[in-house]
Amino acid sequence: MSQEVANVAVLGSTGSIGRNTLEVIAGSHGTLRSIGLSAHARLDLLVEQAQELHPQWIVAACPRLAAAQDWSRLPVGTELLVGPEGVESLARRPEVQIVVAAIVGSAGLRGTWAALEAGKTVALANKETMVVAGPLVTQLAQKTQARIVPVDSEHSAVFQALQAGRREEVKRIILTASGGPFRNHTPEQLASVTIADALRHPTWTMGPKITIDSATMMNKALEIIEARWLFDLRADQIDVVVHPQSIVHSLVEFIDGSVIAQLGSPDMKLPIQYALTYPHRTEGVARPLDFTRTMRLDFEPPDPERFPALALGLEVARTGGTAGAVLNAANEGAVAAFLGGKLHFTDIVPSCRSVLENHHFDPAPSLAQLLELDVWARQEVLRWACLS
Ligand code: MG
Repeated sequence: MSQEVANVAVLGSTGSIGRNTLEVIAGSHGTLRSIGLSAHARLDLLVEQAQELHPQWIVAACPRLAAAQDWSRLPVGTELLVGPEGVESLARRPEVQIVVAAIVGSAGLRGTWAALEAGKTVALANKETMVVAGPLVTQLAQKTQARIVPVDSEHSAVFQALQAGRREEVKRIILTASGGPFRNHTPEQLASVTIADALRHPTWTMGPKITIDSATMMNKALEIIEARWLFDLRADQIDVVVHPQSIVHSLVEFIDGSVIAQLGSPDMKLPIQYALTYPHRTEGVARPLDFTRTMRLDFEPPDPERFPALALGLEVARTGGTAGAVLNAANEGAVAAFLGGKLHFTDIVPSCRSVLENHHFDPAPSLAQLLELDVWARQEVLRWACLS
């Protein structure tokens, strides 16, 4: 194992993944160091993190919020950068070896892009990067020899299980889904789901956006698309199985019929640590599984009628081009509308499908085109919410 210290920049350090990342770094016995932190809204917490960790740089990603913040308690030696340019500049610093891309939503794309351009190792927690611009992102990483290591628990599991065979021996991957809080709801019950119901997740503690995405299973749809680009698979090589205990994080089936799974407690520190120490493994900070107790592992096929997001995800994984960017942005807009009381829970997926069907499809878009569609799809889904 290498004893060198790796400098880590955490983009999105005050969110759920960001805070877990800082715990992993704190438990790394000095082999990992947080050299830069960035945050959007929770700037008081960012200042606290700076006081504790003394990073070389912190970034306040929103200039308006940065201007209103009191920075007097910032430690000496920590430099403040501001705006999306600040995030990009942190990701490109020569002192930085690993960039943790943990900014939620398509807002995370710019920082991830900058890190890949600079040839960094990117611990990718921002699945939207792959959903929006998968082919462009993987091409860029190839060109600059940047390494992408997935942090999403399912993709980390696939990434680990893939090491059991050669690429041409892979038959398919099976992503596990907890099924969210509404796994056994009737259509009537689903139609009356409240914001508070949807924010309660049975096994994982996460931010609000991903918790709603888990409830609609749009999270799994986005993960299908993420896997398609990350592992260069066809859509028909990706399956989903509901596994309520969230212990098996995903599986890879090889052509001989062997299935290799990765198991662990449902704790994001595990995939984060693997991404930060890859290709090595170090003492774990996550709680280990307890095999001295009876443990059940259930698997069941997902109900396509209850969760229409899955079919949508497979469709978009098959179509490629502009479809991923449009689905992702429409969903972000729809989730915000739901959380703002402007859209019913059961309208989230149909509104996304409608925006997707009404967009001008391009099979090989540029990054600029994708960013334009991102803005368009958000507006379009709001228009849909007002009309319905
Ligand atoms: Mg996941």
